[in-house]
Amino acid sequence: MPFELYNTQTNQREPVRPADATRVTFYSCGPTVYDDAHIGNFRSFLAADLLRRWLESPLCELDFDGEISRGPRTVIHVMNITDVGHMTDDDNADGAGEDKMEAAQRRLTDAKKSGKLPAGVEIDPTDQLAIARFYTDRFMQDARKLGLKVALEADSDPSLMPRATDNVEGMIALIQRLIDQGAAYQAGDAVYFSVESYPAYGVISGNTIDDIRAGAGGRISDDDQQSKRHPADFLLWKRDPRHAMRWESPWGEGYPGWHLECSVMALDRLDPQSSGTIDLHSGGEDNIFPHHECENAQSCCATGAERFARHWFHPRFLMVEGDKMSKSKGNFLTARDLFAKGHEPAAVRLELIKTHYRSNANFTEQGLKDAERLVNRWRAFIDKATDQSGGDEAARTHATQAFAKSMNDDLNIAGALGALNAWIGDTPRPTADDAKLMRTFDDVLGVLTLERPKQADTGIAIFTGGLEPDDRVVQMLEERRAAKKAKDFAEADRIRDELTEMGYAIKDAPEGKVEVGRV
Ligand code: AMP
Ligand code: ZN
Repeated sequence: MPFELYNTQTNQREPVRPADATRVTFYSCGPTVYDDAHIGNFRSFLAADLLRRWLESPLCELDFDGEISRGPRTVIHVMNITDVGHMTDDDNADGAGEDKMEAAQRRLTDAKKSGKLPAGVEIDPTDQLAIARFYTDRFMQDARKLGLKVALEADSDPSLMPRATDNVEGMIALIQRLIDQGAAYQAGDAVYFSVESYPAYGVISGNTIDDIRAGAGGRISDDDQQSKRHPADFLLWKRDPRHAMRWESPWGEGYPGWHLECSVMALDRLDPQSSGTIDLHSGGEDNIFPHHECENAQSCCATGAERFARHWFHPRFLMVEGDKMSKSKGNFLTARDLFAKGHEPAAVRLELIKTHYRSNANFTEQGLKDAERLVNRWRAFIDKATDQSGGDEAARTHATQAFAKSMNDDLNIAGALGALNAWIGDTPRPTADDAKLMRTFDDVLGVLTLERPKQADTGIAIFTGGLEPDDRVVQMLEERRAAKKAKDFAEADRIRDELTEMGYAIKDAPEGKVEVGRV
């Protein structure tokens, strides 16, 4: 069965059919750089990365009405950086509230005043562009560590990760085009998109214009609300000569609305033929409405295309104890938090991709440890493979088919991992050909090529998983060694228990050394 993927726009699974079978265009809504991205954000980004890697794989087959196109193929993946115009109330169609970058400026300025800037944050907190650059750099570091391909590629081709602030000219041109077509209008100190000019408004999210009218109001100032023709009309430009990041425009000095940037950057980079349609578009489930609804409406109006994206891909949220992981709830963990605790990027990545994208994932430390064990098992498989080719060809064919069948089935990752692990379990003496197939699978999973944390060897103890050597632990291990030598096993066990309580798992290693990991 060739690759089928759920499409939010049509509410059903459909074959993935890019305009060009060998070159897929894919746009992902990226981070708003007002703070560090949390692992919930990365769950969405990594789900998109898994999708693009599957499309690139030689194992992925696409169906064009019975004509099968085999991989590998090129995926041009673009992911934006939002550094202006994303408002704190953008979850509502109104687009009201405060610019998230402005809120970050306030948060960091207050923190600096009270001497509580987060560790490692060394910026002028009054400079929004500097804040954006600072968090962009940190995002890129985390993303590269987690093997997000678009971030790795952006090192040599920065146009793959464009920034909103570098694309304001294009946004102004798009607004003008919409005004000229009668799809946007100026009212008060703003320019709005007129949802009534696009009868298909609601086609992505299933909302109707009338429902939005009934539920609207309250979130935007009464003056602004009244100046709009319809409550669901959304902001394209805000005149605000006091906004820290502002640009000249025909509608006064100000800044663009958030939804606009993605239409401009996607079409600019991915639609050189001006067809108005890209192949794939992704974002977390909260992007479906209003963000993608609005992107779709303004893009289709401007270009005349029937669809902005052939396929819309929306991974579900990462949860913590039943709640969405989010900044506002304060229940979030960043990737760098996990790295600092000694968890390796490969395990973090695997933990974040191993639940099907259309189910909520639940983050647990236990899950992370299981992922770590799996990564080590895969590494051991490659490490022990002989240099000789050969082995069980039939088993390889079976594993390949089972892996591909699962991935083609709307990215059924659990099935794919099951096929892979069953094959590894049945292959105790892997050959060079087995190692090669493992690498082919891993090109899709993106785990084994990630940087391994260094091990620190203090002579008596080897600190693993990126753990920093700790003098107190080393001293306790020396005491334990002395106790064992004196055959005082009760004392040796007591020290081990104390270390366990401190969060260290210890394991005897060759040459009388001890391996120290986390409990
Ligand atoms: P933001 O930086 O707030 O613009 O969010 C970046 C991306 O992360 C968006 O596509 C969101 O939909 C997504 N996102 C936010 N929270 C979560 C979560 N808990 N789980 C999965 N994705 C999320
Ligand atoms: Zn977007």
